[in-house]
Amino acid sequence: MAISNDERREIIEKIARSCRIMGKLDMTHAALGHVSYRIPGTDTMLIKGKGPNEVGVRFTQPEDIIEVDFNANKVSGPDGLQPPSESFLHLWLYKKNPAVQSVIHIHPKPAVLLTICNKPILPIYAAYGTGIRLAVEGVRTYQRTITIHDDQLGEDFADFMGGQQVALMRGHGISVTGDSIEDATVRAIALDELTTMNYQAYLLGDPQPIPDIDLELMQRPPEANRARGSSGGLSGMLATWRYYSMLTDEV
Ligand SMILES: [Zn+2]
Repeated sequence: MAISNDERREIIEKIARSCRIMGKLDMTHAALGHVSYRIPGTDTMLIKGKGPNEVGVRFTQPEDIIEVDFNANKVSGPDGLQPPSESFLHLWLYKKNPAVQSVIHIHPKPAVLLTICNKPILPIYAAYGTGIRLAVEGVRTYQRTITIHDDQLGEDFADFMGGQQVALMRGHGISVTGDSIEDATVRAIALDELTTMNYQAYLLGDPQPIPDIDLELMQRPPEANRARGSSGGLSGMLATWRYYSMLTDEV
């Protein structure tokens, strides 16, 4: 399934926007990290480029996005930009999981610090904010600490993630998948909120999981206990994306 030029332009703009949002939120620094999108029906992806002309994640614009095939070779894009060394992380998640449309890999400090100190990610809040469901499902840590820079590491990491949509990477960062760029971005923000709250709670003292009765509620589908007027599901996800888009555009 090919995509039209208009669709391609829209995807590229969304990848750049996702980068700027996560940069604005200090979820990664400098050029460390990338957002990608699988071009439907092909063995190629659009991804933030690296190399001599790279810019920081926070300052990414559409011209910083390049097309890369599933052998990690550049298909198209400006001179001075090359496939990230960690293209293998992205392409193996696509190869192993047909449902995955977008992959984010960044280096958020709180999550990395928790992996360094072997602190489990606890379900420590419910109503406060997002990310609780990730904690209830369990956030796992990949133990290798080097960059995912070849096929062997890419396949090993994709096998580790399995069908899970988030993973921490010891002394390195996080990886998140989604069925759209917005979905993956909002999930990465939720994971960052969860890990930041855990990190700060561990600093304060002895964080405690929420009561069993609320844990049990959090294991049910979100639709089962949504109060009127609260947004969730697809519309809630898009509302969150809209909020962070406006925050990023704020002058
Ligand atoms: Zn990395």
